[in-house]
Amino acid sequence: MKVLVINCGSSSLKYQLINMENESCLAQGLIERIGTEGSGLTQKVEGREKYIVKQYMKDHKDAIKIVLDTLVDETNGVIKNVEEISSVGHRVVHGGEYYSSSVVIDEKVIQALEECSKLAPLHNPPNIIGINACKALMPNTPMVAVFDTAFHQTMPDHSYIYPLPYELYEDHKIRKYGFHGTSHKYVSQVAAEMMGKDIKDLKIISCHLGNGASICAIDGGKSIDTTMGFTPLAGLAMGTRAGDIDPAIVTYLMQELDLTPAQVSDLMNKKSGVLGVSGISSDFRDLKAAAEGNKRAQLSLDVFHYRIKKFISSYAGALGGVDCIIFTAGIGENSSDAREASCEGLEFLGVRIDKEKNNVAGKVAEISAEESIVKVFAIPTNEELMIARDTKELCQL
Ligand code: AMP
Repeated sequence: MKVLVINCGSSSLKYQLINMENESCLAQGLIERIGTEGSGLTQKVEGREKYIVKQYMKDHKDAIKIVLDTLVDETNGVIKNVEEISSVGHRVVHGGEYYSSSVVIDEKVIQALEECSKLAPLHNPPNIIGINACKALMPNTPMVAVFDTAFHQTMPDHSYIYPLPYELYEDHKIRKYGFHGTSHKYVSQVAAEMMGKDIKDLKIISCHLGNGASICAIDGGKSIDTTMGFTPLAGLAMGTRAGDIDPAIVTYLMQELDLTPAQVSDLMNKKSGVLGVSGISSDFRDLKAAAEGNKRAQLSLDVFHYRIKKFISSYAGALGGVDCIIFTAGIGENSSDAREASCEGLEFLGVRIDKEKNNVAGKVAEISAEESIVKVFAIPTNEELMIARDTKELCQL
């Protein structure tokens, strides 16, 4: 059984074809600049040279057609025909309150996703376009939607309700949703396996630290709180996103600098975070290189690490203890500095990092010291595999 995993952005598309017999990735690829000059596909297959197709793609349907053509290409492909793809799993960012788990896509689901578009105007519309494009090209192949928000639907109301007039929740669905759910779920399952324990018996704090970053408190395998909120702008300081700030700053900026809502949103989403503080870059490798002699570069990293530490501590309180802390995604998987700085001062919680063990990048590793009461892990995330697993499970019914 081969599952195609599709992750559609507004002008990009990532895909993986996964053989579910042994969960191996047969091919993975990225299409960029859909709808503009210079669009192209890059496909990677283990043991082969990168395969690049430079071709104009006017829309996502064109893009998916090229993905399928590439997968079956006589010399560069990995399957003989499209019928070998038994099902397609789509990453969908927002499932609102409709979905607490993945779902087989039908007309009703698409309607619900369209309703959720208001809550994720940048993300859901391209996800829906990707689904429709796949349906047009593979009308008989079952498809599944896997939501970034679904894992967090187990949060209790005291965690997801904002202290705003309750009618805003009832009438406008304003509440915390949380994101990166597929990643938090995946790495927490890997951590439980590594500890040789049933996840039901564990209190886990998962730190997904990439360009977008969030932390999740997981009790017995269920999300009970997370740092992202109504949108992925909340919580930690990120590459270009502000994370939590005093909400009064928004109206102040609108009044004092005469900014429109769109301008404030742009400032908070694209010009803030470590980029905003450092004035240099949103890439943590650049910041690390610059930090030595540059105060603002160092300050941006300090702000980033401090917030991680603060949320880890507060989630240990929310969970009533913590058995393990996980670091994942671009920074969490690769940066020993970020992991060490984020855990510094958490000895009172029973957290001790072993510097030598922490000297790893891009692989599963326990990085806590022998005497650490709390286990600490670096675990590469694999959202695509998680999506493929759900797709396989739902399509076998
Ligand atoms: P992601 O969104 O998960 O792809 O993560 C992207 C982020 O990971 C970027 O900000 C990169 O700077 C960061 N990153 C990747 N490799 C490293 C590394 N070796 N050290 C620090 N940050 C890294």
